[in-house]
Amino acid sequence: MCYTDLSLLFKLAVRQALQYKLLPDTNQRQEIERWLNMLRYQYNYLLAERFNWWQYNRSDCVIPQGQFCQIACTVGSQVLRNNPNWHSQSASLPCLKTDRPWYRDIYSQVLQDCVKRVKLAFERYIKGDSKGKRSGRPRFKARNRYRTLTFPQAKDSWLKGNKVKFPKLGLIKYICHRSIPQGFKVKTASVTKKADGYYLTLIVEDKTVPEFELDIAPTKNNLIAIDLGLEKLYVDNFGNQVLPQKYLRKSEEKLAKLQCQLADDNRSRKAKKLIRRAIARLHQKISRQRKQWHFEEAKKLCQKAEVVCIEDLRIANLRRKNQAKKVNGKYVENGQCRKAGLNKSFSDCAIAQFVDILHHQARKLGVKILKINPKNTSQTCPICLNKVSKTLSDRWHDCPVCKASMDRDYASALLIKKVALGIVSL
Ligand SMILES: [Zn+2]
Repeated sequence: MCYTDLSLLFKLAVRQALQYKLLPDTNQRQEIERWLNMLRYQYNYLLAERFNWWQYNRSDCVIPQGQFCQIACTVGSQVLRNNPNWHSQSASLPCLKTDRPWYRDIYSQVLQDCVKRVKLAFERYIKGDSKGKRSGRPRFKARNRYRTLTFPQAKDSWLKGNKVKFPKLGLIKYICHRSIPQGFKVKTASVTKKADGYYLTLIVEDKTVPEFELDIAPTKNNLIAIDLGLEKLYVDNFGNQVLPQKYLRKSEEKLAKLQCQLADDNRSRKAKKLIRRAIARLHQKISRQRKQWHFEEAKKLCQKAEVVCIEDLRIANLRRKNQAKKVNGKYVENGQCRKAGLNKSFSDCAIAQFVDILHHQARKLGVKILKINPKNTSQTCPICLNKVSKTLSDRWHDCPVCKASMDRDYASALLIKKVALGIVSL
């Protein structure tokens, strides 16, 4: 099943993000910078308020499930304060505007969105997200770390030809390379500062689009199984392989040269600013090259079959640091130096991004993605199902029982196909 109708193609998701290049003039650019700076100060202040409460109003005794006892009465001279939350912090905004009148220049909803960002960052640190996964301690934002301002209730009427009208910022030109798909309405608009300028991100939504799961049963002829990896981006069950492009490694020399220039203290501050900008742009270029390549490869793959089967890899786990090794109370070499190089290659290959883009392309082209458990897929012979142990450096599969001899990744792909078809269970 392949959607050739373009209008249908864009309508397969309820919500999507569209990004456009903004072309602000000098005054507008300065105003956006000023807003971002003010928002950053407010963000840091609100975050500090939450950290302070957490530090002073919590006792050290720990009750089960990682919860902390809260101090419920006044201790010594310390006055009991209310825990700052979204409501109290939002309510403090009018007061902020009287104390610091320049904050009146910011559109009120943009300022409220800043409070929401603090809430999200802090709650992810304390409670974790919907799956209970906790993030690290939120950082105070230094200059250039607060890059986005959001208008949470944008309207279609804000877009006029090649211009967008923001409240209090005025009409700003943008490059409208793609119109909003029919039936979709603009929900939010954000302005983001990137290495090569400013970008407008619109979240558009069409609630009439039904969400459905593709119901395609995998068969011998419509299925393609792939084994993702580092040495090759993927190998499919026909033996076709796609080699990684290694964009970071290709630009490493250029990057090192720029970084050496930056480390040279004889250069002026102005020169260093330019070098820093060049480094940021080079990184941006590398990531864009990689993304483009991932899109192309994912599309090619989705056009080959109706069901694509992949391993359900935990990619973040692959990039972990090596554990420290101790012998007789002394730290000994644990191979982290080599692991760091491996991790760099993992980042350069960006398997997780490829999997994300593969899902996206599959949804667009009406292809089903089947995930299977990756356990033992590299340690089992696909022909006789005998266990053949291999380390990461063994790149060839040699089975002592059935005498099968083939590439290790190809063997995995063959096995994944069998698992997906239900012929084998591991
Ligand atoms: Zn075998």
